[in-house]
Parts: sequence; C-alpha cells; structure tokens
Amino acid sequence: MDRDRTRRYLVTVGPELLPGEPQDAHLAVLSWNDRAEAWIHGQAICGRSVPQGELDAGATVTCRDCLARKAEYERILTGQAKPTTVDRLRAELRTATRHAHEADADRADAQAALLQAQAATLRAQASENRVRAQSVNAHAQVDAVRRLCDLTISASVRAQAIDQARDTLAAIDAISDRRLWPGDDAWGTVWLHGNWRYLTSKMETAAREHAADAVARWNRELRAQDGDPEPVEPEGLRWWREP
Ligand SMILES: [Zn+2]
Repeated sequence: MDRDRTRRYLVTVGPELLPGEPQDAHLAVLSWNDRAEAWIHGQAICGRSVPQGELDAGATVTCRDCLARKAEYERILTGQAKPTTVDRLRAELRTATRHAHEADADRADAQAALLQAQAATLRAQASENRVRAQSVNAHAQVDAVRRLCDLTISASVRAQAIDQARDTLAAIDAISDRRLWPGDDAWGTVWLHGNWRYLTSKMETAAREHAADAVARWNRELRAQDGDPEPVEPEGLRWWREP
C-alpha cells in the first residue's frame, strides 16, 4: 500500500498483550518517521498505549472510545477543520450577521425617530417663527399708526384731526398691551451703552424707527415700573427727526 509520507493515516492497531488489558482493536495515527525511516504510530486515539504495528486491513475496531473519536480524527487527518468548530463559527456568523442587521435596523429606527423628532421640532419652530413674525408685524403696524397719531397730535393744526388721533391712540392702547417685545431689552442695552447716533446713522430710516420703537417700549416699561405715569421718550432717541 503506497502511502504519502507527508500525510498521516488512521490505522487499526492491536492491544497491549498484558494481563487484564481488554483485547480490543484500537485506532492510532500513523506517520512517517524520517529518523527511523519507518511508518510509526502513537498511542491509540482513545489514550491507551498500544504496541507498534498495524493489524491487517480487515481487522475490525472494537474499542468504543476509539470508534467514538474516529470520525473526528478522520476529518482532522484529511485536512478538514473540525465540523463542530466550523458549524459553531457558521452559526456564530449567522447570529452575528442577524444581530448586525437587527442592530442596523434598530439604529435606522432610532435615526428615523430622531429625524422625525427633529422635523417636528423644526416644524414647531417654523410655526412659532411665523406666529412671532405675524405678532411683530401686527405690533409694527400698530406702532406705525401710533407714530402717525403722535405726529398728528403734535403737528396738525386741525382740532378734529387731533381729536381723531387721540381717539385712535386710546383705542390702540386699549387693545394692545404695552409689554416689551423680544429684543427690546437688547435695544435698550444698545441705547444705554452703545453709540446710538452713530449706530442708527448706519441704518435705513425704517430700521432706526424700529430700533427707536424698541428703546421707547423698553424705556416706557422701566419708567412705568418706577411709577412714572406719563413716561416720555428719551431725549435724542429719534435724532433724525429733530430739525
Ligand atoms: Zn481504543
């Protein structure tokens, strides 16, 4: 029987001929030994020590421990990895892949939920901004009317027009609170600590009127808190109107 000297073989071997030793045929791994220039096997794969020498090809393995290990050894000797290992790795890979998919799905769900929440927040903010913009527009329109009335009262020579303006102002005061708008505090600070004339000189008239309105509201609120019933605008607030 030609054997490949680079390979190892599972062969049937006999038992030690010792008193009390079960007379079973075992399996052992046979390999070429260069130093001895011979095929030599080790102990039986069941762990029992066995005498050197193969049994005839027709001999039947009777050791149950060797038989139990036979398939595993055959796979090892034919170069295959243990199927238990491969199967376990395959199973682990499948599990890992499934978990990865599930984790991806979870992440995607979380991401989607986050995006939805962000979108909802943005919608709410947009809605809030619209409401605020509408409110600011309404306030601005009311303030424009109020300014017109003030101008009429101070400049008109027609008593009827002045009375009308006063009525309008009273109506405006009745429907609009005099509370501060967002940003009035900031303009108040600019008025207090900034170079008001220089800063407003860089603005269009509409913008500087808007800024002056903010300072006026801020000033009114402060004075009202101090108990001033008829607070007047700070001097030089609308310097561009002065002659
Ligand atoms: Zn055995």
